[in-house]
Amino acid sequence: MLAVVFGLAVGSFLNVVIHRLPKMMERQWRVDCAQLDQAAAAAQPVTERYNLLLPRSHCPSCSQPITAWRNVPIISYLALGGRCAGCKAKISPRYPFVELISGVLAGYAVWRFGPTLAGAGAMLFVFAMIALTFIDLDTFYLPDDITLPLLWAGLLLNLDRTYVDLPAAVIGATGGYLSLWCVYWVFKLATGKEGMGYGDFKLLAAIGAWLGWQMLPLVILLSSLVGAIIGIGLMIFARHGRETPIPFGPYLAIAGMIALFHGPLINRHYLNFL
Ligand SMILES: [Zn+2]
Repeated sequence: MLAVVFGLAVGSFLNVVIHRLPKMMERQWRVDCAQLDQAAAAAQPVTERYNLLLPRSHCPSCSQPITAWRNVPIISYLALGGRCAGCKAKISPRYPFVELISGVLAGYAVWRFGPTLAGAGAMLFVFAMIALTFIDLDTFYLPDDITLPLLWAGLLLNLDRTYVDLPAAVIGATGGYLSLWCVYWVFKLATGKEGMGYGDFKLLAAIGAWLGWQMLPLVILLSSLVGAIIGIGLMIFARHGRETPIPFGPYLAIAGMIALFHGPLINRHYLNFL
């Protein structure tokens, strides 16, 4: 129960990460480009601070700050009827949805692994997967700022065999990156198109670091399966064009979470089946 409440609160913060991290990356790129180009640097206006904490959360249409009591996960959304208290502009239902799945999955992580280091790690893992899923849906990026620390965290946790032993984690990280890297190049040489991005390789590397190389075939299989189901669903129900690209990151993230919670069980059945 405590984990669910904690998850709801973190979900509220994940909304900020999902919204601001891509904007922060874009600002940084502009600054980097301007530094290469001295003339542009001179013309560059001094920008105000923009990070995960500043400026304070505010309504995007009327800029009214969101006070603490209006920032209670889900409850505030329901109490305000999904509208801004100031200007009555509609608030996207995605905010309470992100909070809800963060709460539910955090609760599930602790229920599944117990109040242990593995349970705390599993919460961290699902929070990262949720943030990556929505950032990828919005921008087609999987930021290094999330995928790389996630990879290190997986290796560190497995120093002490939290999920798998260290050799399995190291081979998992390397194998995760290389397997998608190979798929990318085969696909690119065969069709001339880019099927996925480097962020996807890093995400699978991170998943491999957490769950070990033994889980990689399952994760790839599950992500293709989830992708096929969602892809067909979108084509039928939303008339999503076959040509409209769908990011691959969310499928990897969903498959990674399934493998984290039930991978060993599925692998055992699967191997028996074979
Ligand atoms: Zn407003």
